Amino acid sequence: MNYKLACDCGWETEGAEAAIVEATQEHGRQLHNMELTFQEALAMAQPLED
Ligand SMILES: [Zn+2]
Repeated sequence: MNYKLACDCGWETEGAEAAIVEATQEHGRQLHNMELTFQEALAMAQPLED
């Protein structure tokens, strides 16, 4: 299943679970100085229909 994730700052990513989680962790680290766990990043994502 694919997911879409939008950050409060307007940044967005879309893709498979592992990919969006990794991209979000990287984004949080670089732009927000924030360390997200896998579960925290996934909690921000919304599943896409197909
Ligand atoms: Zn952001």
